Amino acid sequence: MPPALIEVTHRKGIYLPEADLWLDPHFGVKRAFISHAHSDHVARHDLTFCSATTHRLMVARKSAKKAGQVISPSLGEVIEWEGWELRLLPAGHIIGSTMLHLTRKADGATLLYTGDYKLRQGLSCAACEPLPADVLIMECTFGLPRYRFPPLAEVQEGIRDFVTQTLAEGGVPVLQGYSLGKAQELLRALHGLDVPVMVHPSVALMTEVVRDEIGELPPWRLFDALEARGHALVFPPGTKPAVPGCRFAMASGWALDASARYRYRVDALFPLSDHADHPELRETIDLVKPRRVWLVHGFTREFATELRAAGIEAWSLERADQLEFAW
Ligand SMILES: [Zn+2]
Repeated sequence: MPPALIEVTHRKGIYLPEADLWLDPHFGVKRAFISHAHSDHVARHDLTFCSATTHRLMVARKSAKKAGQVISPSLGEVIEWEGWELRLLPAGHIIGSTMLHLTRKADGATLLYTGDYKLRQGLSCAACEPLPADVLIMECTFGLPRYRFPPLAEVQEGIRDFVTQTLAEGGVPVLQGYSLGKAQELLRALHGLDVPVMVHPSVALMTEVVRDEIGELPPWRLFDALEARGHALVFPPGTKPAVPGCRFAMASGWALDASARYRYRVDALFPLSDHADHPELRETIDLVKPRRVWLVHGFTREFATELRAAGIEAWSLERADQLEFAW
């Protein structure tokens, strides 16, 4: 008899009652696992599991100011904790991002929580290393078959061409991406291009924290409007450098949507994403071999339906399709 599956519930957040552990909660709890430093809603938790890099980023973002105890195991290290074995595994999403793998020691039942992730090797963080598990809680932001990202080398080439062409035409190329994750990916994409880079203060802050962990970067400095000409700029979406002649490019997986250029009001769009695309989501199922899948974020209902049609027990954790499950 295979062991009973580890119970997963959703109470305005993902909660594992047997371990009394919340996964990426947006409010203060007793014990939490934080997958990565994207959330600005990190409240005080009495005990937090997260990677050392994620903790440093949260401190830098001041989202961990009042943190209680923080436990940061090395990646892959096994921690024995209240009848559980706990491992943090690289998630490949942004620098410091991890998945959580749990084993219930009493009977060997396992669970993997992906947090945000991608299987493709990115430019600025470690490759994802999922482990098999009986229960898989996974994000499916891009859970429709139409989301297939082109090879990274192709996307990177497009970004570099945009930069060199804009500069050749006397313009100022502005690459837009979130200050943590996408911005470092963009900086890495420009390495070796022989173009100096200026960055928004929020990008500088995050990049400083992880500069020794993300590989070689092009020469970069803080944005200075008077000297910006001749530089590529890396700015978060929604911020605009006060420089004439800017041409804007956005890096986002949503670039695959036909309407994206109008939505983002930019001159160019590149499908550079830090999430898994649809083929990677399916590949994750093959790698983890779960007996039950819980889906969070994005097209959860659609992807659950697709998986069930393929004979895999899968449910949206936040939506009502679990009613079917009760039958
Ligand atoms: Zn994220």
